[in-house]
Amino acid sequence: MIKKITVLLPVLNEEENVKLICGAVKSIFELKAEYKPEIIFIDDGSTDCTLNNIIELSASDPGVHYISFSRNFGKDNAIAAGLVKSTGDAVITMDADMQHAPFLINELISHWEKGHEVVSYYREDKNKHTGFLSHFYSAAFYKLINLFASVKLEKGLSDFRIMDRKVVNALSSFHEDTLFFRGMIKWVGFRQLSLPYSPEERHRGKTSYKRRMLLKLAIHSVMSFSTKPLSLAIYLGFFFSFLSLLYIPYALFSKLHHIAVSGWASVIVTIAFFGGLNLMILGIVGLYLGKTFMQGKGRPLYIIRESNII
Ligand code: UDP
Ligand code: MG
Repeated sequence: MIKKITVLLPVLNEEENVKLICGAVKSIFELKAEYKPEIIFIDDGSTDCTLNNIIELSASDPGVHYISFSRNFGKDNAIAAGLVKSTGDAVITMDADMQHAPFLINELISHWEKGHEVVSYYREDKNKHTGFLSHFYSAAFYKLINLFASVKLEKGLSDFRIMDRKVVNALSSFHEDTLFFRGMIKWVGFRQLSLPYSPEERHRGKTSYKRRMLLKLAIHSVMSFSTKPLSLAIYLGFFFSFLSLLYIPYALFSKLHHIAVSGWASVIVTIAFFGGLNLMILGIVGLYLGKTFMQGKGRPLYIIRESNII
């Protein structure tokens, strides 16, 4: 029986890459008669000719579909939209800029056929195509997540993966405000396998992720996965309360012996320190409150402007 494999390609301003990646994916499947590809482009609010190019592709090939968002909603939301519309027995998600080498699809499918329900690639850190700072931010991103979140992610885990239909169905029931598939997929369980790969050079255009955004993404991802930062206040509170007890004998001793303690510097430092600490903890609580607020609104994860999938 011929199995259908969906390939999801989230795209943001990739006008010069869409035709190339589509052709490359199709040529992989031409050599695999037992599989039928279903290619779905999710145009994440591109402002260039990306959508026109995809429409052209889909006009000449009934196996190419597209979903176009009303604005940029983020790559994870684009993947979510694609998963809902996918009909394949397995779904592959990959970048459209050729950094995820299409020939690796063969390897993904063969591991999936062996019974692995999720097979993901993680970047083997030779860092051919990333600078020192990007490397630093990326390392900090995974450190932060692994420190606080309840799932463990391989360093450099990418969005290049294959998922069985069972996993896709499980993921479709997620309605979180901040989607983070790399973590959510670890969280759902199933038989998972991670393989190393080295990213290729981006074909055309430039990355849409700025380094500073990575840190913001890390904070949001941690918060959507764990409440550990909230307990930080309790530990710090206990620690400093205990520490302040040590002041009591010192203060009593000074009072009994009539020693005037001069203390402008220490008072100022203490006020500034605890002021800062209070604001920090308040900030963390505020961020969680904000997340709950946004989730409470129950807004859609994306808005589709047009699509050729019913
Ligand atoms: N992308 C997207 N929405 C976004 C940002 C990126 O759909 O808001 C797509 C982008 O078109 C590409 C993939 O996600 O196909 C990876 O993006 P990019 O190459 O910019 O990220 P990097 O490779 O630097 O991690
Ligand atoms: Mg890229």
